[in-house]
Amino acid sequence: NTGVDGLLVQNLDGRWQWLPAEGRRADDLNALPTNFLTFELDPSVEHKTAYLKLNTSQVFNFSINVLDYNSLAWENLFRHLMTGLVLGAIALAFCYNIAIGIGAGERIYLIYASYIASMFIYILVYNGYLRVVFPEWGGQGVVARSSVYVAMYAALAFAREFFNVRYFGGWLDRVIRFAQVGIIASLVISLFINDFYAFVLNDAIAILSISLGLLVGGHALRRGHPLAKLFLLAWIIFLAGSFVWSMTWLGLTEPTTLPPNLLLLGTAIEVGLLSLILSYRYSFLKETSEKLTVQYQKYQDLSETDELTGIFNRRGFFKAAETEFQNPETESVWLTLDIDHFKKFNDAYGHLTGDKLLAEFGSLLMARSRREEFTSKLIIKQSGQAYRRSIVGRMGGEEFSILLVNTTVNQARLYADRLLKEFTELNIVNDKGEKLSTTLSIGGCKIRPTDTIDSAWKRADARLYEAKSSGRAQVIIFD
Ligand code: GH3
Ligand code: MG
Ligand code: MG
Repeated sequence: NTGVDGLLVQNLDGRWQWLPAEGRRADDLNALPTNFLTFELDPSVEHKTAYLKLNTSQVFNFSINVLDYNSLAWENLFRHLMTGLVLGAIALAFCYNIAIGIGAGERIYLIYASYIASMFIYILVYNGYLRVVFPEWGGQGVVARSSVYVAMYAALAFAREFFNVRYFGGWLDRVIRFAQVGIIASLVISLFINDFYAFVLNDAIAILSISLGLLVGGHALRRGHPLAKLFLLAWIIFLAGSFVWSMTWLGLTEPTTLPPNLLLLGTAIEVGLLSLILSYRYSFLKETSEKLTVQYQKYQDLSETDELTGIFNRRGFFKAAETEFQNPETESVWLTLDIDHFKKFNDAYGHLTGDKLLAEFGSLLMARSRREEFTSKLIIKQSGQAYRRSIVGRMGGEEFSILLVNTTVNQARLYADRLLKEFTELNIVNDKGEKLSTTLSIGGCKIRPTDTIDSAWKRADARLYEAKSSGRAQVIIFD
């Protein structure tokens, strides 16, 4: 079917009659497509001589098989079932790879899909199916040759992408790209030259590409790529099928339907194995990317958390506060907190004890904030009413900020008074077992619709300064 055509002539009732091969005419609707030249002889006539006129530019060794109707029918049935099965499997693999390729935006699946598509067309051609629909086109070998070129180009692109030859290959990568340019050039050249040379060129390119594919697989195996063995196995099975098939074309093995069936089987196994390899790769990549996402999230959280106190650091606080500032409908209050005489506390009990106080205070703030978050969610869920939430952060040293969302100034005062009390009750014990405590000053302001984070913080800080200068351990909040 790839470039061979011919007519059989026999003498019937004193007249020489020319018979076209089965499936070779456009109106030959009853004839099944075949991959050999098949002629039908009337068994009731005693055939003395029949001449075969071969129409081909290739050099062939060929043999002639005479089969009775029954065995021909069985052979045909088996072959068409087999071809249908393989074409169906290939079509499935095609859809699957196109879907992943487009869905995940991964080139390698699309490359593989184009490889499968060209194998599909090749199988259609050499089994004679294309010739039934396009009698002229399907018989010229151009389609078959072109599909081999595309398949070889895609196979090399696949191997290159799959094993990251681009990064590890060095000279091998240059050879592959050179071969790919050669494939495109040969495809173009083959459209203009004589059929015989076109077939020779096609074979040469196919042998070169398959050898290169094996080389890439071997290279990956040496580098210890986990899927290199499977890849080589798939490639070798395909190679074995192609080898048997070319033996038939060269006339070295009997042209039964076994060799093309072996090629079909080889192709099916290869496509299946490579699909399997790709899905391994897909799940591996998915797992890796999920792990990375988790790690990124962890890193993100760490970069927004203060190590000593466990609450937001300045950066995390700003980020969380930013979203609240974009929503000026809710009533909010900004508090700034500063521990009183913390320098003295450090000097008296040591820095480690100071750290302990900071950590305890952080836990207290976080516990409160979590509780409010939880209650707020419950209340919003039950009654749709907004409820107080607080965002707490350590702005540096012994200075903290709290953004009270959905809170009036009066509510904020109650909140701050309570915090002041809880702070002095924090149970810090030093090495000698002494219970230590110090006080806290809080300044606060209501957030205006025109406020930025900076302006609100500045105003609250001014009130904190007032609280400090009027004797510390107190709360000053006003609009
Ligand atoms: P005021 O009542 O006016 O706020 O007095 P103060 O001593 O608290 O204020 P000042 O800003 O002068 O001193 C802050 C001190 O906080 C200085 C520093 O030793 C201490 N400090 C800042 N960060 C840390 C920390 O991470 N750990 C400990 N232990 N101390 C810290
Ligand atoms: Mg300070
Ligand atoms: Mg202080």
